[in-house]
Amino acid sequence: MRLMTLVGMAAEGFGDRVVVGGRTTGFTAAGVAARAGSGAALVRERGADAIVYLAVNGPAFPVALFAADLAGVPLVPLNYRLGEQQLEALLAKHPDALVIADPRGLEHLRRCGRDGITPSEWLAETEADRGGVAADDADPDAVAVVIYTSGTTSEPKGVLLRHSNLVSYVLGSVEFASAGGEDAALVSVPPYHIAAVANVITNLFAGRRSLVLEAFAPEEWLRSVREERVTSAMVVPTMLARIIESDADKAVPSLRSLAYGGAPMPGALIERALTVWPEVGFVNAYGLTETSSTITVLGPDEHRAALASEDPRVRARLASAGRALPGVDLEIRDHEGRALGPGRTGRICVRGAQVSAEYAGIGRAVDADGFFDTRDEGRLDEDGYLFIGGRVDDTIIRGAENIAPAEIEDVLLRHPAVTDAVVFGVSDEEWGQRVEAAVVIRAGASADEEELRAFALRTLRSSKTPDRIWLLPELPRTETGKLLRRKMPELVGSAPGAGD
Ligand code: ATP
Repeated sequence: MRLMTLVGMAAEGFGDRVVVGGRTTGFTAAGVAARAGSGAALVRERGADAIVYLAVNGPAFPVALFAADLAGVPLVPLNYRLGEQQLEALLAKHPDALVIADPRGLEHLRRCGRDGITPSEWLAETEADRGGVAADDADPDAVAVVIYTSGTTSEPKGVLLRHSNLVSYVLGSVEFASAGGEDAALVSVPPYHIAAVANVITNLFAGRRSLVLEAFAPEEWLRSVREERVTSAMVVPTMLARIIESDADKAVPSLRSLAYGGAPMPGALIERALTVWPEVGFVNAYGLTETSSTITVLGPDEHRAALASEDPRVRARLASAGRALPGVDLEIRDHEGRALGPGRTGRICVRGAQVSAEYAGIGRAVDADGFFDTRDEGRLDEDGYLFIGGRVDDTIIRGAENIAPAEIEDVLLRHPAVTDAVVFGVSDEEWGQRVEAAVVIRAGASADEEELRAFALRTLRSSKTPDRIWLLPELPRTETGKLLRRKMPELVGSAPGAGD
Protein backbone atom coordinates (compact mmCIF):
# COMPACT_ATOMS: atom_id res chain seq x y z
CA MET A 1 0.00 0.00 0.00
CA ARG A 2 1.21 3.50 -0.80
CA LEU A 3 0.75 6.57 1.34
CA MET A 4 -1.53 8.03 -1.29
CA THR A 5 -3.97 5.24 -0.62
CA LEU A 6 -4.13 6.50 2.97
CA VAL A 7 -4.67 10.06 1.74
CA GLY A 8 -7.47 8.87 -0.57
CA MET A 9 -9.06 7.00 2.33
CA ALA A 10 -8.86 10.14 4.48
CA ALA A 11 -10.48 12.26 1.76
CA GLU A 12 -13.27 9.70 1.44
CA GLY A 13 -13.71 9.22 5.17
CA PHE A 14 -13.87 12.86 6.29
CA GLY A 15 -13.63 14.96 3.14
CA ASP A 16 -14.89 18.24 4.58
CA ARG A 17 -13.05 18.07 7.89
CA VAL A 18 -10.22 20.61 8.27
CA VAL A 19 -7.06 18.49 8.55
CA VAL A 20 -4.20 20.94 7.89
CA GLY A 21 -3.80 24.41 9.39
CA GLY A 22 -5.93 26.66 11.59
CA ARG A 23 -9.47 25.83 12.75
CA THR A 24 -11.09 28.38 10.51
CA THR A 25 -8.43 28.88 7.84
CA GLY A 26 -7.10 25.37 7.20
CA PHE A 27 -7.52 22.88 4.35
CA THR A 28 -10.06 20.05 4.39
CA ALA A 29 -9.08 16.43 3.69
CA ALA A 30 -10.66 16.69 0.23
CA GLY A 31 -8.80 19.99 -0.28
CA VAL A 32 -5.46 18.41 0.68
CA ALA A 33 -6.08 15.54 -1.75
CA ALA A 34 -6.95 18.00 -4.54
CA ARG A 35 -3.87 20.12 -3.83
CA ALA A 36 -1.72 16.99 -3.78
CA GLY A 37 -3.15 16.17 -7.23
CA SER A 38 -2.28 19.61 -8.61
CA GLY A 39 1.16 19.54 -6.99
CA ALA A 40 1.83 16.12 -8.49
CA ALA A 41 0.79 17.40 -11.93
CA LEU A 42 3.24 20.29 -11.54
CA VAL A 43 6.04 17.87 -10.61
CA ARG A 44 5.29 15.88 -13.77
CA GLU A 45 5.07 19.01 -15.95
CA ARG A 46 8.51 20.05 -14.78
CA GLY A 47 9.96 16.57 -15.17
CA ALA A 48 11.17 16.68 -11.55
CA ASP A 49 12.33 13.47 -9.88
CA ALA A 50 11.93 14.68 -6.26
CA ILE A 51 10.52 17.55 -4.22
CA VAL A 52 13.13 19.20 -2.02
CA TYR A 53 11.59 21.16 0.88
CA LEU A 54 14.04 23.78 2.13
CA ALA A 55 11.90 26.07 4.27
CA VAL A 56 10.40 26.44 7.72
CA ASN A 57 7.40 24.30 8.52
CA GLY A 58 3.90 25.33 7.49
CA PRO A 59 0.88 24.08 5.54
CA ALA A 60 3.00 23.90 2.36
CA PHE A 61 4.89 20.99 3.90
CA PRO A 62 2.06 18.42 4.21
CA VAL A 63 0.86 19.39 0.73
CA ALA A 64 4.40 18.80 -0.60
CA LEU A 65 4.61 15.44 1.16
CA PHE A 66 1.38 14.14 -0.36
CA ALA A 67 2.03 15.68 -3.79
CA ALA A 68 5.43 13.99 -3.98
CA ASP A 69 3.80 10.79 -2.98
CA LEU A 70 1.09 11.04 -5.64
CA ALA A 71 3.66 11.95 -8.30
CA GLY A 72 5.68 8.88 -7.31
CA VAL A 73 8.79 10.90 -6.37
CA PRO A 74 10.45 11.23 -2.95
CA LEU A 75 10.09 14.24 -0.69
CA VAL A 76 13.46 15.43 0.60
CA PRO A 77 13.18 17.88 3.50
CA LEU A 78 16.49 19.67 4.07
CA ASN A 79 17.67 21.55 7.13
CA TYR A 80 17.47 25.24 6.21
CA ARG A 81 20.00 26.03 8.95
CA LEU A 82 22.84 24.03 7.39
CA GLY A 83 25.96 25.88 6.32
CA GLU A 84 26.29 26.76 2.63
CA GLN A 85 28.77 24.04 1.81
CA GLN A 86 26.76 21.27 3.41
CA LEU A 87 23.58 22.48 1.79
CA GLU A 88 25.25 22.68 -1.59
CA ALA A 89 26.48 19.10 -1.24
CA LEU A 90 22.97 17.87 -0.36
CA LEU A 91 21.28 19.87 -3.12
CA ALA A 92 23.77 18.46 -5.62
CA LYS A 93 22.43 14.99 -4.80
CA HIS A 94 19.01 16.07 -6.13
CA PRO A 95 19.81 18.04 -9.31
CA ASP A 96 16.41 17.45 -10.96
CA ALA A 97 14.22 18.16 -7.95
CA LEU A 98 11.47 20.76 -7.72
CA VAL A 99 12.72 22.90 -4.84
CA ILE A 100 10.38 24.68 -2.41
CA ALA A 101 12.53 27.16 -0.53
CA ASP A 102 12.20 30.29 1.56
CA PRO A 103 13.98 33.48 0.36
CA ARG A 104 17.33 32.56 1.92
CA GLY A 105 17.21 29.12 0.32
CA LEU A 106 16.22 30.62 -3.04
CA GLU A 107 19.16 33.00 -2.94
CA HIS A 108 21.42 30.07 -2.27
CA LEU A 109 19.88 28.07 -5.12
CA ARG A 110 20.39 30.94 -7.56
CA ARG A 111 24.07 31.10 -6.65
CA CYS A 112 24.23 27.42 -7.66
CA GLY A 113 22.51 28.28 -10.97
CA ARG A 114 19.20 26.73 -9.92
CA ASP A 115 15.75 28.02 -9.15
CA GLY A 116 12.86 27.16 -6.89
CA ILE A 117 9.53 28.39 -5.61
CA THR A 118 8.53 29.75 -2.21
CA PRO A 119 6.04 27.92 0.05
CA SER A 120 3.35 30.51 -0.77
CA GLU A 121 4.00 30.14 -4.52
CA TRP A 122 3.75 26.39 -4.04
CA LEU A 123 0.40 26.76 -2.26
CA ALA A 124 -0.86 29.08 -5.03
CA GLU A 125 0.28 26.58 -7.69
CA THR A 126 -1.49 23.71 -5.93
CA GLU A 127 -4.69 25.71 -5.64
CA ALA A 128 -4.92 25.86 -9.43
CA ASP A 129 -6.77 22.98 -11.04
CA ARG A 130 -4.21 21.09 -13.09
CA GLY A 131 -6.28 18.02 -13.66
CA GLY A 132 -4.28 16.01 -11.10
CA VAL A 133 -2.62 12.68 -11.81
CA ALA A 134 -3.97 9.16 -11.33
CA ALA A 135 -3.10 7.62 -7.95
CA ASP A 136 -0.85 4.71 -8.75
CA ASP A 137 -0.86 1.98 -6.17
CA ALA A 138 1.62 -0.16 -8.05
CA ASP A 139 4.86 0.23 -6.17
CA PRO A 140 4.60 0.11 -2.40
CA ASP A 141 8.37 -0.20 -2.24
CA ALA A 142 9.12 3.14 -3.87
CA VAL A 143 11.03 5.66 -1.76
CA ALA A 144 8.55 8.12 -0.20
CA VAL A 145 10.87 10.29 1.89
CA VAL A 146 14.61 10.86 2.19
CA ILE A 147 15.72 12.31 5.53
CA TYR A 148 19.28 13.30 6.26
CA THR A 149 20.28 12.50 9.85
CA SER A 150 21.55 15.46 11.82
CA GLY A 151 25.02 14.01 12.05
CA THR A 152 25.39 14.37 15.81
CA THR A 153 27.46 11.18 16.01
CA SER A 154 28.66 10.74 12.41
CA GLU A 155 28.40 12.48 9.03
CA PRO A 156 24.80 13.05 7.84
CA LYS A 157 23.42 10.07 5.93
CA GLY A 158 20.37 10.02 3.67
CA VAL A 159 17.87 7.59 5.21
CA LEU A 160 15.50 6.14 2.62
CA LEU A 161 11.97 5.57 3.90
CA ARG A 162 9.79 3.55 1.57
CA HIS A 163 6.00 3.74 1.35
CA SER A 164 5.80 0.30 2.93
CA ASN A 165 7.86 1.46 5.97
CA LEU A 166 5.74 4.56 6.60
CA VAL A 167 2.41 2.82 6.01
CA SER A 168 3.44 0.03 8.43
CA TYR A 169 4.34 2.68 10.98
CA VAL A 170 1.02 4.49 10.60
CA LEU A 171 -1.01 1.31 10.91
CA GLY A 172 0.92 0.08 13.97
CA SER A 173 1.21 3.46 15.67
CA VAL A 174 -0.53 4.29 18.91
CA GLU A 175 -1.75 7.52 17.40
CA PHE A 176 -3.57 5.49 14.78
CA ALA A 177 -7.01 5.69 16.21
CA SER A 178 -9.83 7.54 14.59
CA ALA A 179 -9.83 11.05 15.91
CA GLY A 180 -12.96 13.08 16.64
CA GLY A 181 -13.73 16.06 14.42
CA GLU A 182 -12.39 18.43 17.09
CA ASP A 183 -9.01 16.76 17.50
CA ALA A 184 -5.95 18.81 16.60
CA ALA A 185 -2.23 18.03 16.85
CA LEU A 186 0.43 20.69 17.15
CA VAL A 187 3.51 19.93 15.05
CA SER A 188 6.39 22.03 16.34
CA VAL A 189 9.41 20.09 15.14
CA PRO A 190 11.06 21.18 11.87
CA PRO A 191 10.07 19.50 8.59
CA TYR A 192 13.41 17.69 8.20
CA HIS A 193 12.81 15.70 11.40
CA ILE A 194 11.19 12.26 11.10
CA ALA A 195 8.65 13.18 13.81
CA ALA A 196 7.19 15.93 11.59
CA VAL A 197 6.79 13.53 8.67
CA ALA A 198 5.33 10.74 10.82
CA ASN A 199 2.96 13.11 12.65
CA VAL A 200 1.59 14.74 9.53
CA ILE A 201 0.89 11.38 7.88
CA THR A 202 -0.69 9.80 10.97
CA ASN A 203 -2.83 12.85 11.68
CA LEU A 204 -4.24 12.98 8.19
CA PHE A 205 -5.05 9.30 8.20
CA ALA A 206 -6.73 9.53 11.60
CA GLY A 207 -8.69 12.63 10.57
CA ARG A 208 -6.88 14.79 13.12
CA ARG A 209 -5.99 18.36 12.21
CA SER A 210 -2.25 19.11 11.92
CA LEU A 211 -1.44 22.61 13.05
CA VAL A 212 2.11 23.16 11.85
CA LEU A 213 4.21 25.81 13.63
CA GLU A 214 6.86 27.67 11.63
CA ALA A 215 9.32 27.58 14.49
CA PHE A 216 9.24 26.69 18.15
CA ALA A 217 9.00 29.34 20.88
CA PRO A 218 7.47 28.47 24.28
CA GLU A 219 5.00 31.39 24.39
CA GLU A 220 3.82 30.78 20.84
CA TRP A 221 3.46 27.06 21.53
CA LEU A 222 1.33 27.66 24.65
CA ARG A 223 -0.78 30.29 22.90
CA SER A 224 -1.39 28.01 19.89
CA VAL A 225 -2.46 25.15 22.15
CA ARG A 226 -5.05 27.39 23.81
CA GLU A 227 -6.30 29.37 20.82
CA GLU A 228 -6.44 26.44 18.43
CA ARG A 229 -7.79 24.03 21.07
CA VAL A 230 -4.96 21.58 20.46
CA THR A 231 -5.59 18.10 21.86
CA SER A 232 -2.19 16.46 21.24
CA ALA A 233 1.39 17.53 20.61
CA MET A 234 4.92 16.20 20.40
CA VAL A 235 8.02 17.91 21.82
CA VAL A 236 11.69 17.14 22.24
CA PRO A 237 12.93 17.40 25.86
CA THR A 238 14.57 20.82 25.40
CA MET A 239 11.27 22.23 24.16
CA LEU A 240 9.48 20.83 27.20
CA ALA A 241 12.15 22.37 29.47
CA ARG A 242 11.66 25.77 27.84
CA ILE A 243 7.87 25.55 28.10
CA ILE A 244 7.97 24.52 31.76
CA GLU A 245 10.55 27.18 32.65
CA SER A 246 8.77 29.98 30.79
CA ASP A 247 6.88 32.70 32.67
CA ALA A 248 3.98 32.49 30.21
CA ASP A 249 0.51 31.26 31.19
CA LYS A 250 0.78 27.46 31.22
CA ALA A 251 -2.93 26.67 31.16
CA VAL A 252 -3.58 24.11 28.40
CA PRO A 253 -7.19 23.02 29.02
CA SER A 254 -7.68 21.25 25.67
CA LEU A 255 -4.41 19.26 25.73
CA ARG A 256 -5.02 15.56 26.38
CA SER A 257 -1.79 14.01 25.15
CA LEU A 258 1.82 15.18 25.06
CA ALA A 259 4.41 12.91 23.46
CA TYR A 260 8.11 13.48 24.00
CA GLY A 261 11.19 11.90 22.46
CA GLY A 262 14.09 12.49 20.10
CA ALA A 263 16.61 12.66 22.96
CA PRO A 264 16.85 11.37 26.55
CA MET A 265 14.34 12.97 28.93
CA PRO A 266 15.92 14.18 32.20
CA GLY A 267 14.18 12.60 35.23
CA ALA A 268 13.76 15.90 37.07
CA LEU A 269 12.06 17.46 34.04
CA ILE A 270 9.41 14.79 33.47
CA GLU A 271 8.61 14.69 37.19
CA ARG A 272 8.09 18.45 37.15
CA ALA A 273 6.00 18.37 33.95
CA LEU A 274 3.72 15.69 35.43
CA THR A 275 3.12 17.95 38.42
CA VAL A 276 2.53 21.10 36.36
CA TRP A 277 0.06 19.28 34.05
CA PRO A 278 -1.52 16.42 36.03
CA GLU A 279 -4.42 16.23 33.54
CA VAL A 280 -2.21 15.71 30.48
CA GLY A 281 -1.38 12.17 29.32
CA PHE A 282 2.38 11.97 28.76
CA VAL A 283 3.83 9.56 26.21
CA ASN A 284 7.52 8.76 25.93
CA ALA A 285 8.16 7.79 22.30
CA TYR A 286 11.54 6.32 21.36
CA GLY A 287 12.57 5.93 17.76
CA LEU A 288 14.99 6.83 15.00
CA THR A 289 14.77 8.16 11.49
CA GLU A 290 15.79 4.69 10.30
CA THR A 291 12.73 3.14 12.01
CA SER A 292 10.16 5.57 10.52
CA SER A 293 9.92 7.15 14.01
CA THR A 294 8.49 5.56 17.17
CA ILE A 295 9.30 1.94 18.07
CA THR A 296 8.61 1.91 21.82
CA VAL A 297 6.08 3.79 23.90
CA LEU A 298 5.52 4.51 27.61
CA GLY A 299 1.89 5.58 27.81
CA PRO A 300 -0.03 8.00 30.07
CA ASP A 301 -1.29 5.35 32.52
CA GLU A 302 2.22 3.98 32.91
CA HIS A 303 3.53 7.47 33.69
CA ARG A 304 0.83 8.04 36.31
CA ALA A 305 1.28 4.59 37.85
CA ALA A 306 5.06 5.08 38.08
CA LEU A 307 4.72 8.49 39.69
CA ALA A 308 2.23 7.23 42.27
CA SER A 309 3.96 3.93 43.07
CA GLU A 310 5.94 3.13 46.19
CA ASP A 311 7.33 0.01 44.48
CA PRO A 312 10.84 1.00 43.25
CA ARG A 313 10.53 -1.30 40.21
CA VAL A 314 7.35 0.44 39.02
CA ARG A 315 8.61 3.89 40.04
CA ALA A 316 11.77 3.36 37.96
CA ARG A 317 9.61 3.07 34.83
CA LEU A 318 9.31 6.84 34.69
CA ALA A 319 12.83 6.65 33.24
CA SER A 320 11.84 3.97 30.74
CA ALA A 321 10.98 4.39 27.07
CA GLY A 322 8.20 1.82 27.47
CA ARG A 323 7.47 -1.28 25.45
CA ALA A 324 7.74 -2.17 21.76
CA LEU A 325 4.87 -1.25 19.42
CA PRO A 326 3.00 -4.10 17.73
CA GLY A 327 5.05 -5.48 14.83
CA VAL A 328 8.35 -4.31 16.34
CA ASP A 329 10.85 -6.91 17.63
CA LEU A 330 13.43 -5.64 20.10
CA GLU A 331 16.56 -7.44 21.14
CA ILE A 332 19.44 -6.39 23.37
CA ARG A 333 22.70 -7.75 22.02
CA ASP A 334 26.34 -7.70 23.04
CA HIS A 335 28.96 -6.26 20.70
CA GLU A 336 29.38 -9.64 19.05
CA GLY A 337 25.67 -9.83 18.22
CA ARG A 338 24.63 -12.35 20.91
CA ALA A 339 21.19 -11.78 22.45
CA LEU A 340 21.25 -10.73 26.11
CA GLY A 341 18.52 -11.52 28.64
CA PRO A 342 16.48 -9.14 30.82
CA GLY A 343 18.48 -6.77 33.00
CA ARG A 344 21.63 -6.98 30.85
CA THR A 345 22.86 -3.85 29.09
CA GLY A 346 23.84 -3.99 25.43
CA ARG A 347 22.98 -2.58 22.03
CA ILE A 348 19.33 -2.04 21.20
CA CYS A 349 18.55 -3.94 17.98
CA VAL A 350 15.23 -3.74 16.17
CA ARG A 351 13.33 -5.49 13.39
CA GLY A 352 9.96 -4.85 11.75
CA ALA A 353 8.20 -3.64 8.61
CA GLN A 354 8.58 0.02 9.66
CA VAL A 355 12.37 -0.39 9.98
CA SER A 356 14.00 0.85 6.78
CA ALA A 357 17.62 0.90 8.00
CA GLU A 358 18.51 1.88 4.45
CA TYR A 359 20.88 4.64 3.41
CA ALA A 360 21.31 6.34 0.05
CA GLY A 361 24.42 5.02 -1.66
CA ILE A 362 25.05 2.47 1.11
CA GLY A 363 22.10 0.05 1.18
CA ARG A 364 20.38 -1.70 4.07
CA ALA A 365 22.20 -2.01 7.40
CA VAL A 366 20.52 -5.12 8.79
CA ASP A 367 22.01 -8.47 9.84
CA ALA A 368 21.05 -11.91 8.53
CA ASP A 369 18.00 -12.02 10.85
CA GLY A 370 16.80 -8.63 9.64
CA PHE A 371 17.83 -6.77 12.83
CA PHE A 372 19.10 -3.19 12.71
CA ASP A 373 21.60 -2.05 15.34
CA THR A 374 20.37 1.35 16.59
CA ARG A 375 23.78 2.13 18.13
CA ASP A 376 21.85 3.01 21.27
CA GLU A 377 22.68 1.22 24.48
CA GLY A 378 19.96 -0.11 26.75
CA ARG A 379 18.37 -2.93 28.70
CA LEU A 380 14.96 -4.56 28.93
CA ASP A 381 13.41 -5.43 32.28
CA GLU A 382 11.48 -8.64 33.01
CA ASP A 383 8.26 -7.03 31.74
CA GLY A 384 9.72 -5.81 28.45
CA TYR A 385 10.24 -2.16 29.46
CA LEU A 386 13.17 -0.58 27.66
CA PHE A 387 15.69 1.59 29.51
CA ILE A 388 17.94 3.60 27.19
CA GLY A 389 21.47 4.35 28.36
CA GLY A 390 22.44 6.62 25.46
CA ARG A 391 24.38 6.35 22.25
CA VAL A 392 27.12 3.72 22.02
CA ASP A 393 29.28 6.35 20.28
CA ASP A 394 28.90 8.72 23.25
CA THR A 395 30.11 6.15 25.78
CA ILE A 396 33.13 7.34 27.75
CA ILE A 397 35.70 4.62 28.34
CA ARG A 398 37.60 5.48 31.51
CA GLY A 399 40.16 2.79 32.20
CA ALA A 400 38.14 -0.39 31.71
CA GLU A 401 34.86 1.21 32.73
CA ASN A 402 32.14 2.13 30.21
CA ILE A 403 30.35 5.28 31.33
CA ALA A 404 27.07 6.54 29.81
CA PRO A 405 26.95 10.37 29.90
CA ALA A 406 23.12 10.50 30.19
CA GLU A 407 23.12 9.00 33.70
CA ILE A 408 25.52 11.69 34.96
CA GLU A 409 23.65 14.49 33.16
CA ASP A 410 20.47 13.31 34.85
CA VAL A 411 22.11 13.67 38.27
CA LEU A 412 23.54 17.15 37.52
CA LEU A 413 20.12 18.31 36.28
CA ARG A 414 18.64 17.49 39.68
CA HIS A 415 20.70 20.29 41.25
CA PRO A 416 18.27 23.21 41.67
CA ALA A 417 20.68 25.72 40.13
CA VAL A 418 21.37 23.67 36.98
CA THR A 419 19.19 24.21 33.94
CA ASP A 420 21.20 22.35 31.27
CA ALA A 421 24.05 19.83 31.42
CA VAL A 422 26.34 17.85 29.15
CA VAL A 423 28.87 15.17 30.05
CA PHE A 424 31.69 14.18 27.69
CA GLY A 425 34.99 12.31 27.53
CA VAL A 426 38.34 14.06 27.29
CA SER A 427 41.64 12.32 26.39
CA ASP A 428 43.60 11.46 29.48
CA GLU A 429 47.10 10.02 29.75
CA GLU A 430 46.37 7.88 32.77
CA TRP A 431 42.82 6.64 32.04
CA GLY A 432 42.53 6.94 28.26
CA GLN A 433 39.51 9.17 28.82
CA ARG A 434 38.29 11.15 31.79
CA VAL A 435 34.81 12.47 32.53
CA GLU A 436 34.12 16.19 32.25
CA ALA A 437 30.87 18.14 32.28
CA ALA A 438 29.53 21.56 31.42
CA VAL A 439 26.41 23.06 32.93
CA VAL A 440 24.28 26.16 32.50
CA ILE A 441 23.26 27.87 35.74
CA ARG A 442 19.65 29.02 36.01
CA ALA A 443 19.17 32.82 35.88
CA GLY A 444 19.20 34.21 39.42
CA ALA A 445 20.70 31.02 40.93
CA SER A 446 24.29 30.28 41.80
CA ALA A 447 26.52 27.26 42.28
CA ASP A 448 30.24 26.73 41.77
CA GLU A 449 32.21 23.77 40.47
CA GLU A 450 33.11 22.49 43.93
CA GLU A 451 29.50 22.45 45.10
CA LEU A 452 28.34 20.72 41.92
CA ARG A 453 31.01 18.03 42.20
CA ALA A 454 30.08 17.42 45.82
CA PHE A 455 26.41 17.19 44.77
CA ALA A 456 27.23 14.65 42.03
CA LEU A 457 29.37 12.58 44.42
CA ARG A 458 26.38 12.07 46.70
CA THR A 459 24.73 9.92 43.99
CA LEU A 460 27.53 8.80 41.69
CA ARG A 461 30.67 6.80 42.42
CA SER A 462 33.86 8.79 42.09
CA SER A 463 34.89 7.34 38.70
CA LYS A 464 31.64 8.71 37.25
CA THR A 465 31.85 12.09 38.98
CA PRO A 466 33.17 14.64 36.49
CA ASP A 467 36.77 15.67 37.09
CA ARG A 468 35.84 19.14 35.89
CA ILE A 469 32.51 20.88 35.65
CA TRP A 470 32.56 23.94 33.41
CA LEU A 471 30.01 26.69 33.81
CA LEU A 472 28.86 27.95 30.39
CA PRO A 473 26.20 30.46 29.26
CA GLU A 474 24.65 27.86 26.91
CA LEU A 475 25.33 24.42 25.44
CA PRO A 476 25.66 23.57 21.76
CA ARG A 477 22.50 21.80 20.57
CA THR A 478 20.83 21.09 17.25
CA GLU A 479 17.47 22.73 16.57
CA THR A 480 15.82 19.49 17.57
CA GLY A 481 17.50 19.56 20.96
CA LYS A 482 20.32 17.07 20.44
CA LEU A 483 23.49 17.87 22.35
CA LEU A 484 26.50 18.37 20.13
CA ARG A 485 28.70 16.43 22.52
CA ARG A 486 31.50 16.04 20.00
CA LYS A 487 32.09 19.79 20.07
CA MET A 488 32.55 19.94 23.83
CA PRO A 489 36.25 19.12 24.40
CA GLU A 490 37.24 21.83 21.91
CA LEU A 491 34.69 24.27 23.29
CA VAL A 492 35.86 24.05 26.88
CA GLY A 493 39.45 23.98 25.73
CA SER A 494 38.89 27.56 24.60
CA ALA A 495 36.63 28.57 27.50
CA PRO A 496 37.99 31.20 29.88
CA GLY A 497 39.88 29.52 32.70
CA ALA A 498 40.61 26.33 30.72
CA GLY A 499 43.67 24.56 31.97
CA ASP A 500 43.55 26.35 35.35
P1 ATP B 1 22.67 11.07 13.91
O1 ATP B 1 22.34 9.60 13.88
O2 ATP B 1 23.49 11.51 12.80
O3 ATP B 1 23.15 11.51 15.23
P2 ATP B 1 20.03 12.09 14.48
O4 ATP B 1 20.38 12.31 15.90
O5 ATP B 1 19.32 13.17 13.76
O6 ATP B 1 21.29 11.78 13.61
P3 ATP B 1 17.61 10.65 14.83
O7 ATP B 1 17.11 9.50 14.06
O8 ATP B 1 16.84 11.94 14.71
O9 ATP B 1 19.11 10.82 14.40
O10 ATP B 1 17.70 10.35 16.37
C1 ATP B 1 17.52 9.09 16.92
C2 ATP B 1 18.20 9.01 18.24
O11 ATP B 1 17.60 9.90 19.19
C3 ATP B 1 18.07 7.64 18.87
O12 ATP B 1 19.04 6.76 18.35
C4 ATP B 1 18.26 7.95 20.36
O13 ATP B 1 19.63 8.06 20.68
C5 ATP B 1 17.62 9.32 20.50
N1 ATP B 1 16.24 9.20 21.00
C6 ATP B 1 15.10 9.27 20.27
N2 ATP B 1 14.01 9.14 21.05
C7 ATP B 1 14.45 8.98 22.32
C8 ATP B 1 13.81 8.78 23.59
N3 ATP B 1 12.48 8.75 23.71
N4 ATP B 1 14.60 8.64 24.68
C9 ATP B 1 15.96 8.67 24.57
N5 ATP B 1 16.62 8.86 23.41
C10 ATP B 1 15.88 9.01 22.30
